[in-house]
Amino acid sequence: MDKMGIDEIAVKGERVFVRVDFNVPMDDQQVITDDTRIRAALPTVKHLVDNGARVILASHLGRPKGKVDPRYSLAPVAGHLSQLLQQDVQMAPDCVGTEVKVLADGLRDGQILILENVRYHAEEEKNDPDFARSLADLADIYVNDAFGAAHRAHASTEGIAKYIPAYAGFLMKKELDILGQALSNPNRPFAAIIGGAKVSDKIGVIDNLLKKVDALIIGGGMANTFLKAQGFEVGKSLIEPDKIDLAAELIRQAEQRGVKLMLPADVVVTREFKADAPFRVAEVNAIQADEMALDIGPASAKSFADTVLAAQTVIWNGPMGVFEMDNFARGTEQIAQAMAECTGTTIIGGGDSVAAVEKVGVAEKMTHISTGGGASLEFLEGKTLPGVAILKDKNE
Ligand code: ADP
Ligand code: MG
Repeated sequence: MDKMGIDEIAVKGERVFVRVDFNVPMDDQQVITDDTRIRAALPTVKHLVDNGARVILASHLGRPKGKVDPRYSLAPVAGHLSQLLQQDVQMAPDCVGTEVKVLADGLRDGQILILENVRYHAEEEKNDPDFARSLADLADIYVNDAFGAAHRAHASTEGIAKYIPAYAGFLMKKELDILGQALSNPNRPFAAIIGGAKVSDKIGVIDNLLKKVDALIIGGGMANTFLKAQGFEVGKSLIEPDKIDLAAELIRQAEQRGVKLMLPADVVVTREFKADAPFRVAEVNAIQADEMALDIGPASAKSFADTVLAAQTVIWNGPMGVFEMDNFARGTEQIAQAMAECTGTTIIGGGDSVAAVEKVGVAEKMTHISTGGGASLEFLEGKTLPGVAILKDKNE
């Protein structure tokens, strides 16, 4: 269902509570080391400011565990945001309470107030109704632009919307539109590439995507469990013995549905899990007992890449090998390159896959890089995210 965005409502003079994801990495001196998430929220903040809203920003930062902890203050973010916008950003001493209420009520059109870390209060993660109401009391309208936190039903991501009308910010809208379109009405052929260490992390995603894709490519550590299910010996490779039956079942399901399931035909093996350990390429029927597969081989990379290049929609989650070590990064790099060259819609989800694409230097070539690790996984699993469910539908 399409959600209503902030460009569809009048915001002039309204106090707008915007849940953003300003959970940015900082060094010991509280200097922001990567401001991607702050920049990602700028379109929403600018739109609201330009249209005369009184903007109240809220976020979590780190894990202060329900207590005030200056290490997790949003004050450095307020300073940074102010620089980016070339505009004053007021920092509130807390996110609820009389003093904060006075600040929120004192905002003039186009002004910005940023609340202190919502996780200074244990009630936030408990989704406490009274706490959610106190947050709602600060504003007339709620906007959720924190896709990365939308899989959590917390007071500032879900509870608050029970008290004031809730809309999607631009970043939220973009995530929902692109991921939603891929899952519900993809241009075909539609291919998914799933990798990473473990099958168990991605069962839900594989399960859901099997119902939607034309081709499902499986690489990375999890491929070993599938290879084992097909009767290959995988030596010392990482496998999940208790998931072999499940892998066999998924292979059967793919066959029944006419989905082309692609597993590596060759792999890069080594005897030690070490960056400088000697390695060789082995066909999957020739892995020795003392060897482990740490990457897909060149023939597999080529056939996976060809499938990517021929696709009109591709979703990629999880690297093809231990890409942190250069000797085992080729497969992942080749897939990243193919994604970059693919003329269809290309979507990347998952922290390590994003890191891989950035390492190869092709991030700009992707249609969409999802900002939410856990949230995008749950979305791909077909789950309804609590922070999305509460947003007004277009025809409501
Ligand atoms: P993402 O964050 O993109 O969802 P995951 O966290 O699921 O990806 O998986 C990434 C991790 O999987 C990386 O640390 C990588 O080293 C590891 N990995 C990939 N292939 C293998 C393999 N063959 N053996 C062991 N670990 C692997
Ligand atoms: Mg990861």
